[in-house]
Amino acid sequence: MPADAVVIGAGPNGLVAANMLADRGWDVVVCEEQPEPGGAVRSGAVTEPGFVHDLYSAFYPLTPASRYIAPLELERHGLRWRRAPAAVAHPHPDGRCAVLSTDLEETCASLDSFAPGDGDAWRRLFELWQRAGPHLFGALLRPLPPIRPAAGLIRALGPRGVADFGRFSLLSARRLAEESFRGEGGGWIITGNALHADLTPDSAGGGLFGWVLCCLGQQFGFPVAEGGAGSITEALVRRFRGLGGEVICDTPIERIELRAGRARSAVAADGSRFEARRAILADCGAPALYLKMLPRDAVSERERRQLRRFQYDNSTFKVNWALGAPIPWRSEDARGAGTVHVADGMEGLTRATVHLAGGSIPDRPFLVLGQYSEADPSRAPAGAEAAWAYTHVPQQARHDAAGELSGDWAGADRERFADRMEAEVERLAPGFRQLILSRHIQTPLDLEASNRNLVGGAINGGTAQLYQQTIFRPITGLGRPSTPVPGLYLASASAHPGGGLHGGPGGNAASTAIKRDRLRRMLRANWSGDRL
Ligand SMILES: Cc1cc2nc3c(=O)[nH]c(=O)nc-3n(C[C@H](O)[C@H](O)[C@H](O)COP(=O)(O)OP(=O)(O)OC[C@H]3O[C@@H](n4cnc5c(N)ncnc54)[C@H](O)[C@@H]3O)c2cc1C
Repeated sequence: MPADAVVIGAGPNGLVAANMLADRGWDVVVCEEQPEPGGAVRSGAVTEPGFVHDLYSAFYPLTPASRYIAPLELERHGLRWRRAPAAVAHPHPDGRCAVLSTDLEETCASLDSFAPGDGDAWRRLFELWQRAGPHLFGALLRPLPPIRPAAGLIRALGPRGVADFGRFSLLSARRLAEESFRGEGGGWIITGNALHADLTPDSAGGGLFGWVLCCLGQQFGFPVAEGGAGSITEALVRRFRGLGGEVICDTPIERIELRAGRARSAVAADGSRFEARRAILADCGAPALYLKMLPRDAVSERERRQLRRFQYDNSTFKVNWALGAPIPWRSEDARGAGTVHVADGMEGLTRATVHLAGGSIPDRPFLVLGQYSEADPSRAPAGAEAAWAYTHVPQQARHDAAGELSGDWAGADRERFADRMEAEVERLAPGFRQLILSRHIQTPLDLEASNRNLVGGAINGGTAQLYQQTIFRPITGLGRPSTPVPGLYLASASAHPGGGLHGGPGGNAASTAIKRDRLRRMLRANWSGDRL
């Protein structure tokens, strides 16, 4: 029996889309290649008994602000959010520590400790967010062009304010910090957040990216899911199944078949065929969808050329640790943060990204580290700690800045690079290594093997650099989820607005599919109906 819609991939974007379609009464089937749903939102017991580790994404400042995820009310389907008192801390070996607390006064006091007046500078930046943020975020999380949010932004800031905001949006993280703060702490926090994506301290637009994450952190904290990231997926699946939806795992889709020029069925590796009456939504990497899964003649040469130059973000190397006790940060302030940036201030952030840009494995990798004892003690036995850290390495390593490794992640480099990451934590938290009960490593190869969208260990479905955002994502066009094939929509992080748990690509794909279907039904009597 054909379904109304087939969703390929049960990552968060696929599941958000599936829920939205099911809410409209569509009969939806989700086909997932892996044995379990969730994509990069899964957790597991991979170290010692009693420890739960988030295997990919872990903290979710983008989620509470999402116009697609918030209305799903996942809390009514078993999800509980937890927050540490501080969203992010950036400790320095000299003992200073910048903190983005969920309490505005505490954030300001932390930045004032770097230079008096920096607290007020942060207050002004956060006040700008309170006026502009909802419109900006609204603009990102809807199909382009975002007419209503743009009008809201003009109303909120005035025409001259919008022009200033345009300039502000293009600043690098370093320049934004230089223009805003006298001391170093504000720059560490904003730049460290910009570097969660594959941006550098000097990337145009990196300031906006870092500022958005910091302001979301100020407003909502960096929430984590009680019991593990997998409980977000469980809530999405539970809700969807409650609406009659079906999730079928162990089902890799290899081809999309067209009839009369329209996407009609998704064909699995074993030949099973999943037919769709109304739409197929693909939570797949854009190059895989366009260049491998569609018939060659369905994609023009221009589109193929652009897809061949599609740039994935840097690779990622992740370590999960079972620790006998919380991390003994030298700086007390780092102990209350859910997320810790490990780098020697702006210099350390710059050094790691310069190495990456030159194709080198950083000798002093910048780590994004997560710890749970403050936010969610259920992740580890009493008194213990479940922690993780990831860092970026080049997609194709040409050298190692320390002259030791070759990027052979299947061989000895796997353990040696994990040792290098641990040495970085140890410098800020002497005694850390002695607490390690066991560790679990995820190399770029492991990441891709567990989810084909994480190409080469890329975590954002494609670079976050400006030249591959909005109307340039995934190819130059209108930045919409539509594809060259009627009835087929791109619903993954390869589509605008990119990576992170906000459901933007899935939500945009579902809302576009619903609108197109409505129009098509209205035009059914007309020959053009099937072209939508
Ligand atoms: C290590 C890591 C850390 C991250 N940290 C954070 C974080 O802390 N906060 C945050 O907000 N975001 C984070 N992210 C990013 C976030 O997880 C992703 O942007 C998000 O998961 C993208 O969702 P998606 O649905 O587009 O794709 P994915 O989550 O990658 O899911 C895609 C799914 O589709 C399936 N699939 C693909 N092709 C096929 C096919 N042909 N047939 C069948 N199934 C298929 C895959 O198996 C997978 O299950 C992180 C990602 C990683 C990898």
